[in-house]
Amino acid sequence: MFDYEDNRPLILKNVSFSLRGGQKVGIIGRTGSGKSSTVQAILQMINIKGGRILIDNVDLATLAGSVVREQIITLTQDPFLFPSSIRSNIDPLGTYNDEDISVALEKVKLWDILCNKVGGNNPDTKDVLDTCIDAGFLSHGQRQLFCLARAILKPGKVLILDEPTSSVDAKTDAQMQGVIRNEFGGHTIIMIAHRLSSLLDFDHILMLDQGSLVETGHPTEL
Ligand code: ATP
Ligand code: MG
Repeated sequence: MFDYEDNRPLILKNVSFSLRGGQKVGIIGRTGSGKSSTVQAILQMINIKGGRILIDNVDLATLAGSVVREQIITLTQDPFLFPSSIRSNIDPLGTYNDEDISVALEKVKLWDILCNKVGGNNPDTKDVLDTCIDAGFLSHGQRQLFCLARAILKPGKVLILDEPTSSVDAKTDAQMQGVIRNEFGGHTIIMIAHRLSSLLDFDHILMLDQGSLVETGHPTEL
């Protein structure tokens, strides 16, 4: 069996785990150990050799990939924004009103930054949201904040975060961790981190090495 478009052998071996609804699970491991690949496997985009992933006793492989991806909110390591308006980037389906969107952006402390960038004195919410942005409009860390605001708006009870604070300073990191804990308290959370220290209040940790699960347990046991 092969994975990825260039037919490399399967990267993940025997990575099996089972999550309960509402559980907070951390994934740690060195660079290249397979953390982001595990996210891809959860989203049914790649296979695991001899492994199964269950959420609430449902084997994700038994569901259609599109159904899994619809239910799970994902923040990737490389937050991407389209060259389009702020509004369509945060609310592509046009589901939310201006107030909902600006409140979500305020929660991640990005609203004032966006208003300042758009310029003018106290710009209209509508004008700010209709501003077209390009790839360089926000820094990498600001794009992470933007995607967190998008996650706050999105329905779904499972949130996956792939190193959500890798490009922000310590103060913003602490603020984002607070938002994640406050806004997603009832969600099932799967968070990837380089350090165990950011996951000490999590329920369970999975440690990967060279594509395999090498340790699992409560953060204080590892
Ligand atoms: P990091 O901490 O740097 O983000 P990671 O633990 O997330 O690392 P992965 O991105 O899962 O690591 O990569 C695990 C292995 O899979 C690496 O050897 C990588 O080269 C390989 N890999 C990842 N994505 C692809 C791809 N699209 N095609 C082929 N190989 C890939
Ligand atoms: Mg990664």
